[in-house]
Order: sequence, then structure tokens, then C-alpha cells
Amino acid sequence: MLRPRNFCRSGQLRAIRAASFFSRSRRVYEEDKPGCFGLKGLNRPPDWEHVGNQCIDDCLQLAERIRLQRDHPSVSVLQTFDDLSDRLCGVLDVAELCRNVHPDPDFVEAANATFTHVSSVIQHLNADKSLYEPLRKLYDSHCIQVRTGSQVGPDLSREDLVMVKSLKQDFERGGINLSDIEKARLIKLQDQVTSASAKFLSPPSDYPATLQLPYDKLRQVPGQFLRSLSRAPSNPDHVVIPLTSSSMQLLLKWAPDSRIREKVYRLSHDHRQEKKDRYLRSILEDRLAIAKLLDHRSYAELLFQDRMASSPSDVKEFLEGLSALVRRRALDERTELEMEKLRREPHLAVNGSRMELHGWDRSFYIGRLKAEKYDLSSSQVSQYFPLSACLYGIGYLLHATFGVHLVKCHANEGETWHEDVQKLHLRDSKGEVLGQIFLDLYPREGKYGHAAHFSITCGRQPGGGADYQIPSVALVCNFGRGDSSGERLLTVSEYETFFHEFGHSLHSIFSRTKYQHLSGTRVTTDFVEVPSHLFEHFAWHPLLISKFARHYKSGDAIPTRLLRSLCASRKGFMSTDTQMQLLFSAMDLDFHGRDPPIASTTEAFAKLQEKLTVYKPDKNVPVPTSFHHFVGYGGGYYTYIFARVLSAQLWANLFGNDPFSKEGGAKIKNGLLAYGGAQDPATLLSNLIEGEINCNAFLSSLGIGEKDAQATLHFPISNNLSPKLGLSHAM
Ligand SMILES: [Zn+2]
Repeated sequence: MLRPRNFCRSGQLRAIRAASFFSRSRRVYEEDKPGCFGLKGLNRPPDWEHVGNQCIDDCLQLAERIRLQRDHPSVSVLQTFDDLSDRLCGVLDVAELCRNVHPDPDFVEAANATFTHVSSVIQHLNADKSLYEPLRKLYDSHCIQVRTGSQVGPDLSREDLVMVKSLKQDFERGGINLSDIEKARLIKLQDQVTSASAKFLSPPSDYPATLQLPYDKLRQVPGQFLRSLSRAPSNPDHVVIPLTSSSMQLLLKWAPDSRIREKVYRLSHDHRQEKKDRYLRSILEDRLAIAKLLDHRSYAELLFQDRMASSPSDVKEFLEGLSALVRRRALDERTELEMEKLRREPHLAVNGSRMELHGWDRSFYIGRLKAEKYDLSSSQVSQYFPLSACLYGIGYLLHATFGVHLVKCHANEGETWHEDVQKLHLRDSKGEVLGQIFLDLYPREGKYGHAAHFSITCGRQPGGGADYQIPSVALVCNFGRGDSSGERLLTVSEYETFFHEFGHSLHSIFSRTKYQHLSGTRVTTDFVEVPSHLFEHFAWHPLLISKFARHYKSGDAIPTRLLRSLCASRKGFMSTDTQMQLLFSAMDLDFHGRDPPIASTTEAFAKLQEKLTVYKPDKNVPVPTSFHHFVGYGGGYYTYIFARVLSAQLWANLFGNDPFSKEGGAKIKNGLLAYGGAQDPATLLSNLIEGEINCNAFLSSLGIGEKDAQATLHFPISNNLSPKLGLSHAM
């Protein structure tokens, strides 16, 4: 069936905190009243128990209806599957959101328990062959019909066919066709991966929680961060810094003393290396065993069954080819950084003139050079990006380009989970509600710590009728608390994140699929980041910024010089950034594509770094053990570089001349987002681009304009994914 999915920039879902099973109760609740998150009957923590039990009862009844079609399935069985999937996701998605954002620990604990309880029922249903059989029969009859031309089963629309293929594949990946002994082994391997992943993601108990550093060495670090630190009790000249990834990133970017940066960098990649490496290799070994059990040569190959990309080897070739194309520009950028380091830290020169750049140098010198080159100060820029103005900017864009209205509205009593949460509607030109968005944007204790888009209700046509189930999503971020007046000012990176997550939300809201199983962001993993990256292009267009960016106190428009510098600075050191992204994508794919599994992760990473970047690996820095995306992406981290390349081409083709192009907006809304996962993305992209998908627009955005060189790189997307999805003769 389905698992809830959310998409975020550093997406690690919080582990389940508690697991307890309910006994069934039959108390009466206010079921018809939309409760918290809009979920009917959810008003108090104990209501989770009833909501979960009711969901399970309904799902078991729906499963019974599916079984009635075991021998002679009709297309209606797919609708019943979707009813079942909608019922499950309607509870699991909300439980997932609740346990990540609700400020009441009782609500969180009850949501966790319901999540675990309902998930256990999914496991049971996923192993039920009587549910798989109707799907297999529908699909087989379609294949016979395609092959022979004779009518042996019901006609399937394109969306029906994608639906049946997707559901059937989910069952098969769960081992539905394995023997009992093999199934038991699969479950054991999956449990081992879950357990090793949890250990890999959490810092070991002997890892230090804080670091003490002299205050006077941190004077260039942003004041807002410094003010949040406490003085060390035993040494008042020092401050205590929590060793979180965000504080370490700040220090790597701002601390001028290279010894401090090196210390922080090594700590950020330490995480007690040997234990972490053991967990990582255990995850990779068990995933390989899972793939083999399911008849695939590697875990990457197993995952590529339903990917937009053609094959792991094609993607590997693409990553290496793209790295070679940006190499010359990356070398130029490295020289600039070396010169800057020589100027600032001449005592570190090797043989008097040569500078070696380390992992702890890149972020710092890129930041310094950008600030000098473009004359930018982050605090000055932020003053023109108050959150309310940025939200106005998004609304302006949605109206100008997509013809829809973003409207603030009153939440029903008890519908939101915190006083900070705002409710918005997206309405079409006739005032019809297309979807709703809850904004939960500020940090608070215990809340999910990254930025993410969570589904609450997915769009679909219930019963295949004319009415449409209105999608509802939550956009969860952690933007700074703002200045003393309470005005929240966004950093450049927060501003971009806001647009990125809005891109995901619009994918959910503009989607108009028949089945919720295929709605919005329920698309193949290597396509899901394309809409959100496209929205980042809008974010950095000066025409849009000039529509809303005003000084939060004076109300003055952003000065033209500052606006120009800001937009230009986005392009600085992009080849270095691209090579690093290519390196991590290649590492993730390489480690998940090996048989036998990898022996030394650090050694393999060092070789890839030598091959794919212009930077030497730092000795004794175990980078792979701190790359947490191994767990969530499992060979699919390349999705981000795909999204950058594809969104650049979409942007150049549709909005290159005008970010407010209504024609471009209509094409994205109706020709891409409306399809959700009901159409293969390669076809949708080809239709929009009206030509070959390639890297030229992306490379041009990096300032690499040698068309002949660009043309040699083939984008590893299947020109026609139809055979892969069994769609070649679909209606
Ligand atoms: Zn994203």
C-alpha cells in the first residue's frame, strides 16, 4: 500500500519515540467535527486511539471488498485500493505530521502509538496474497491484450495502468512471491536495516554534546547565533557551542581562525568513526542481500525499477561526465580560493607560495570572497526580506504566473496545533478552493528541526466521480525568531528554502489525479525535487524580488545595486558546489551498487573525490560516516543534481524571457504538476521542453557555454519510459 512521504532538504524523519498497542474501544467521539490538522474526531490525545481503530476497521472492510474480486477483477478494484490507501494515508500522514510538530507530548505519544499500530496493519495487508492476486490478473490480462490484440480483460486508462503497476510492484518489493522461509529472511534483513539506520543516524553516547571556544575568535560569526550562546562556567572567556549540524556549519562558514574550523570539521565528521562505519557497512550489506532475495544484482538496481533514470550505470556515467564538464571552471574557482587563503593566511603557505585547500576552508573562503566581490552583508540583506513580505511575494508570483490567489483564512477551532500556525487557501480565478496550506514556520522546542512539506490530505476523485477531494498540506520550517520588534527577517538561505518548500506544496495542490496513490508528490523519487527547484529560480529573479522586497522599518524598496549584487552572488562558485553534489551522489550510488559490498568506505570515497572534484581528500576524515542521506535515499541522492539540471532547462524554456509568463505558468500547472505520478515524468518533461532533455541550460547557468562540449553529455533519462512502465500501448 502506501507509506507517508515527505520531502525536505535534509530529510531525516524523527524515530518513533514510543510504541504501544491499543486495545479496541468503542467510545463515542465527535466524529463529524473536523479536529486538529482537519482530521475528523481528533480533538484530544486519547482520540488518536479511536481514529486509529476506526481506520483499521474501515481498511479491513475495504480489503474484504477487494478479495471478492480475486478471480475476475474489474477496474473498480483499483478504486477500492485507492479508498483503502486514502484511508490509511489520511491517518498515517497526519500521525507523521503530529509526532513531528505537535507541542503537546501527550499528542505526540498518542500519534506515535497510532502510527505504529496502523503500520502493523499495513504490514499484514502487504503480505496478503489475496489482495495481490487481483492486481496481478489485471496487469497480466492487459499485457496479453497488448501482445495479442485480443480482449481478455477490462480496458485500462493510462492512469489505471500506472496505478496497477505501482501497486503490484509495491507488493512484489515486499516479497509477496517469496517462500515462507525467504519472506522471514526478508523481514529479518529489513529489521536489521532499520535498527542499523537508527544507530547510524544518532550520535554515539560518547560523542561530545558541546564544544567550548574563545569568544574573541568568533567575532565575525553572526550576532544572532553568538547571542544565543552561554559563557563557559569554568572559563568566562569561552562560550559553549552545541554540536548541532547547523552550529557547525555556521562556524565553518564564519570562523576566521583555521584551527577552529579544522577542529569543528573533524568533529563534524567524527561521530566515533569505527562504530558508524560498522553500521553503514551493515546497512549496505543487508540492502544488497534484500536486492538479491528479490532477484536483483544490487540495491541500486532494485530501486531503479520505477525511476525516471534509465539505469544506475547510465547515471554513474552522467555524474562523471558532468563533473568533467565543470572541471575547468571549478579549477578557476579553486585558484581564486587559494589566492584568498594566501592573502589572509600567508603563514600557512607550503613552500612559501602554494596553498592547500582543505574541507574546512571551502565554505569560509567562498563566503568571504562572495561578500567582498558582491559587497554583501547578510544582516543588511535580511532587512529587506521580512517574512510577511516574502509571503506576499509568493502570492504575487502565484497570481501573476499561475492565475491563482493565495488567501489567508481563519482556521476552525482546534484545527491548528500551535498559535504560530497560519492557514492559507489557494483559490482559482472563480474563487474555488484548490487546496489548503498550513504554515508552521518558527522553531520551538521538540519540533521537527528541518524544512519539509507534509501531506495531510491528498487530492483524488472519490469513486471516480466529478467531485474532487481538496488537497491539504503543511509547510514546516524553522525560520529565525527575528529582531527585538518581533519582525521575522529571513536569511538568504531561508528565503530560498521557503520557495523550495512552496514548490513541493504546489505539486500537491495543483495535482488533479483520479487516484490519491498517484497524487502530487507521490512521484518517482528522482523527479520529486524538480518542481521545488524550479521555484528556486523564481525566488532569484530580480523582477519578482523588486515586487516585494522592502526595508522592514523604513519601507524603502531594496536598492538596485543590492538587488543586482544579491542575484549575481547566487552564481558564484557554482562549479565547486556542483562538483561536491556530484561527488556525494556518486558515492551514494556507488556504495549501493556494489557486489560484493564495500570494504573500506573512506578509501572508496577518497578515490571518488580524486576522480570527480578538483580537491584532494583530507587525510583521516571519514566523510561517508557523516553522510546521513545514505539512509533515506539508498542510492537516490542524485535526485538533487537531476532536479538542478531539469529545472534549469524548464526555466530557460518557459520563463527565460519572463518570470510572469502566463503561458509558462499554465504549462507547468496543467502539463506537469496536474499529473502527479499518473504519467511518466520523461514524457511530461519532453512535452514541456519540446525537444531533447540535456544539460545545456544548467551549464550555461554556471557560465559554461561551450555548446560542443555540452552536446556530448547524454542525460540518462529514458526517451520513452513506456516500456519500463508497461505503457507502450496504453490508452
Ligand atoms: Zn525538496
